[in-house]
Amino acid sequence: MKKIKMTTPIVELDGDEMTRHIWAWIKDILIKPYVELNSEYYDLGLVNREKTGDKVTIDAANAIKKYGVGVKCATITPNAQRVKEYNLTQMWKSPNGTVRAILDGTVFRAPIMVKGITPYIPTWTSPITIARHAYGDIYKDVEGYVKKGGNAKLVIEDEDGKREIEIFDYAKTSGVVMGMHNTDKSISSFARSCFNYALDTKQDLWFATKDTISKTYDHRFKDIFQEIFDGEYKEKFQKAGIEYFYTLIDDAVARVVRSSGGMIWACKNYDGDVMSDMVATAFGSLAMMTSVLVSPDGNYEYEAAHGTVTRHYYKFLKGEETSTNPVATIFAWSGGLRKRGQLDGIKELEDFADKLDKATIDTIEDGFMTGDLATIYKGDKQVRKLNTVDFLKEIAKKLG
Ligand code: NAP
Ligand code: MG
Repeated sequence: MKKIKMTTPIVELDGDEMTRHIWAWIKDILIKPYVELNSEYYDLGLVNREKTGDKVTIDAANAIKKYGVGVKCATITPNAQRVKEYNLTQMWKSPNGTVRAILDGTVFRAPIMVKGITPYIPTWTSPITIARHAYGDIYKDVEGYVKKGGNAKLVIEDEDGKREIEIFDYAKTSGVVMGMHNTDKSISSFARSCFNYALDTKQDLWFATKDTISKTYDHRFKDIFQEIFDGEYKEKFQKAGIEYFYTLIDDAVARVVRSSGGMIWACKNYDGDVMSDMVATAFGSLAMMTSVLVSPDGNYEYEAAHGTVTRHYYKFLKGEETSTNPVATIFAWSGGLRKRGQLDGIKELEDFADKLDKATIDTIEDGFMTGDLATIYKGDKQVRKLNTVDFLKEIAKKLG
């Protein structure tokens, strides 16, 4: 068989632990036999981040900016224990945070659905994609404790002068106070990423805040989304046959539960944090959750939503057989290759990505799966629990 050629490199960000091995196996078993892989490789494994003073992460993010498409393996975000384990000179920042800061993107997470792994909500027959605004609000807040008899004020200074607004008078009781912010620039980027992704994937976009209570703060989010939609996207949405709609967050939650899925749900930072865990769990498994970072100027970084699966890795190091689920990482690769194919006009590459996704899903639906899925499978096929490599080989059989 002739291998598919690529004209522009895909930026490849390697990672850590169990997923680093899975990464190499996927390339060897499922990609390289079919595609003449043209990748610009960056090793974001913790050892190399230490060696390069984390410069490799910044270089990789800039490469994604240059070429437009990256695919990333899960990486360790160091904590005190990792500093010891890897003998680090610094507690390096989260690579995902660094990449996100450079690309200024929004993260979209969507479950991979297969027959036999059923969502806890039976009406959810299509995936629900959560778009989480990844900047500001309580994640960049300042907080204080105020003693009884105290007072807290909000002071704003701008070209209109200085205003002091009383937040609360603690005359009768002590308590807590918090200040948080967001910016028009970040909210606008978030909105554009969501509108672009909705057009890309031909799905409706829902957005919700609590603007009836938060009449300036949340209302600003609502207004920015509406202005950008009316000015730049309305006609494109009509042409694509999709819809943008805004509602209150509590109404959105109720509607999502009653829905059959198939939409993008844009959430403010906190709502997205909470709701993405709820939606992921309700769909069945974290190992079946994909994630893509989309920047407002159209750069894409694909990854799995899970981490480096440390517990399995320590078993693997002891020589024990591991059955870690590679599906979300496979979908990260197919997502990246499909996007590369679309941008470069290489139809064979797009088709290969579709074929790889289908082969993966068909393999599970035929009863071949990793341990995590075997325990929750409710289909009618006889389950054959495989180790990771044998599972990948089973998928390869379907690719021919
Ligand atoms: P994790 O790697 O997602 O794993 C947590 C547990 O979830 C595993 O022990 C396993 O449960 C299950 N699991 C996750 N992915 C699985 C898969 N593909 N197949 C089968 N089971 C899977 O999270 P963590 O243990 O909290 O974090 C480990 C490291 O990953 C940390 O250093 C963290 O910094 C990093 N991390 C990176 C990213 C990223 O790069 N995007 C995201 C999250 C975490 P059982 O053990 O019960 O089988
Ligand atoms: Mg969370």
